[in-house]
Amino acid sequence: MFYVSKRLEISFAHRLELDYESKCGRLHGHNAIVTVFCCSEKLDRNGMVTDFSKIKETVSGRLDHLYINETAGFNPTAENLAHWLCGLIPNCYKVIFQESEGNTAAYVKDGYENAAL
Ligand SMILES: [Zn+2]
Repeated sequence: MFYVSKRLEISFAHRLELDYESKCGRLHGHNAIVTVFCCSEKLDRNGMVTDFSKIKETVSGRLDHLYINETAGFNPTAENLAHWLCGLIPNCYKVIFQESEGNTAAYVKDGYENAAL
């Protein structure tokens, strides 16, 4: 099995739709660190699992310097964002979404809990 990971920093704005009072319901921004993990048993014809630049295009293109509530179509919690990104990136099995220092969510596809990276 081949593994790659890519770490990116993005800036975005959102507000959370919560069923309780919270300052997170107001518009605010984050400088987040997103780490994307991909794997494949075989490399593509270019010798890659997933092109690092395609990962960056997907993550930055859909999140960086954007107001996510206008584009995502779901409640943009760190958990939901990690899950959403994982589904958009070829061969992705895990996304770690560090929304801020000390606040991190992760999504791991079923069956990949013990992956090497
Ligand atoms: Zn937030």
